[in-house]
Amino acid sequence: MADPTLDEAIQKPTPGLLPNLSLAELDAGEAPLEELSGLPGGGLNIAYEAVVRHAAGPLRDRVAFRFLGRKDEVAELSYGQLDEQSARFAGLLAELGVARGERVFLLAGRIPELYVAVLGALRHGAVVSPLFAAFGPEPIQARLEIGAGKVLVTTSALYKSKVKKIRAALPALEHVLVVGEPEKVAKLEGVVDLRARLAEVEPRREVAPTQPEDPALLHFTSGTTGKPKGALHVHQAVQWHRASAAWALDLHPDDVFWCTADPGWVTGMSYGIVAPLVLGLTSIVDEADFNAERWYRILAEQRVTVWYTAPTAVRMLMKVGDEAAREQDLSALRFVASVGEPLNPEAVRWGVEALGLPIHDNWWQTETGGIMIANTAAMPIKPGSMGRPLPGIEVSIVRKTPEGLSHLGAGEEGELALRRGWPSMVRTYLNEEERYQRCFVGEWYLSGDLARRDADGYVWFVGRADDVINTSGHLVGPFEVESALMEHPAVAEVGVIGKPDPVAMELVKAFVALKPGHEDSDELRQELFAFARKRLGSAVAPKELEVVAGLPKTRSGKIMRRLLKARELGLPEGDTSTLESDG
Ligand code: ATP
Ligand code: MG
Repeated sequence: MADPTLDEAIQKPTPGLLPNLSLAELDAGEAPLEELSGLPGGGLNIAYEAVVRHAAGPLRDRVAFRFLGRKDEVAELSYGQLDEQSARFAGLLAELGVARGERVFLLAGRIPELYVAVLGALRHGAVVSPLFAAFGPEPIQARLEIGAGKVLVTTSALYKSKVKKIRAALPALEHVLVVGEPEKVAKLEGVVDLRARLAEVEPRREVAPTQPEDPALLHFTSGTTGKPKGALHVHQAVQWHRASAAWALDLHPDDVFWCTADPGWVTGMSYGIVAPLVLGLTSIVDEADFNAERWYRILAEQRVTVWYTAPTAVRMLMKVGDEAAREQDLSALRFVASVGEPLNPEAVRWGVEALGLPIHDNWWQTETGGIMIANTAAMPIKPGSMGRPLPGIEVSIVRKTPEGLSHLGAGEEGELALRRGWPSMVRTYLNEEERYQRCFVGEWYLSGDLARRDADGYVWFVGRADDVINTSGHLVGPFEVESALMEHPAVAEVGVIGKPDPVAMELVKAFVALKPGHEDSDELRQELFAFARKRLGSAVAPKELEVVAGLPKTRSGKIMRRLLKARELGLPEGDTSTLESDG
């Protein structure tokens, strides 16, 4: 692969799918839906768009998912096989008496049965709610309660370690479908052996006649800022899954796509399952956890062309160094995107150096159901910016006033708001309708994130509304400070908080994790202070800095600044159900 300079790489957009659709077409709400089929008898169903219609056409034998097991074993499901298996799963739900709209929860690693269950349940008209396999029993129980889960799909190991002890407390949970070795499943009481039943059940080929506004997916938010919310999405979301993936991820029919997100959070569902299927692509699914050497090997061996990952993974790869990337043949790769947290400009530059490609940041939330703002293939990247709103998405930077909202101009910082009405918009927070309503002011959905927009329409992330620091009259976004420190060669990761201070109101404190080969010392800390002051000025640069072994993160890889703050101040930690680790 040629080694482009940073400027070449980010200034020369490649012609993507974006220019093919005019804004007027999108505003009319027609264009994306034209690419969908709709149910033959009327209505819309995600599983039909994703699998059933393809299995009846030329894509029948194309590989939909190639699963890479922990021990490098490979399993594949073609569109035709996924159609058959999902029809069997739907048949099983019918036998069990599961009605449309009832909730099917999933608690498993990235194994084929999980994907079959998602599509089978949607096909049946049930609502799918995926959980992280690594959750402990309490978060599992809390979510099953909120969603009144009737069915749970899990593995024998997870059943034994987590579900068995909470089952008696979940009266709504009628059926537990377990994947595992037959002898192991046979030893469990009150469960169904999923593999055995799928092999004998009568497939139910017809697709439930769901309407666009019928509920389809229940996703819990990451819990970064507080107690997770149960965001309910409808079948219509598929319209945006498809359109946004084509534009923001530049997906074309022959792509081999790897979305590294777990289906336990919304990225792994919208872009790890639904969008690539609707577009008829082949996706790679890796069951194993992050490992730099393994990931580079997968990119090379699977000839991945489009890769969608997260800043936390990018930072871990950066930590390992560029050599590991250079040892592999990454020549098939042509587009890389990232979501979930701010992508430091340093990471965009690293992409060009290590992968030969810049990383395209994009922004969205569980609530938006799909990508809203993106650096698309068809536009120059501004490193550090999340990009521009996708066609049909109207963004405003706002401030709440007693009268409603004031809409701010270019360069001004305020809350990032979206005009309501895009297809994949959350329709409620389950059991928390009032909290949901509070997200809206008139026609505008307020995201809880602060941002500014430049004169070219690019949106720049400032921080979570809760995380912004007020120091001596300056409002400081943690992202800006973190990005500056990330440029120092010793720094692997940074989390920045505002620490209450009698004089300055808050002072900026940075928690820094170092790259291997660097040690904490007075000298290094002084160097980091000076480094930050030079880039940020003394008003914004951190006044306190602590070197830590790792930072607290959610299971979806987000730095939990509220936890850094609570710990610093000796306050209660609040909801930690999604906390992964401190490293
Ligand atoms: P909770 O709402 O429970 O606190 P959460 O907001 O972290 O959790 P998600 O919906 O998974 O849950 O994450 C969406 C949030 O992630 C966004 O609101 C934003 O703060 C952050 N985010 C996502 N993508 C980006 C990005 N490209 N740049 C900056 N921040 C991002
Ligand atoms: Mg949120």
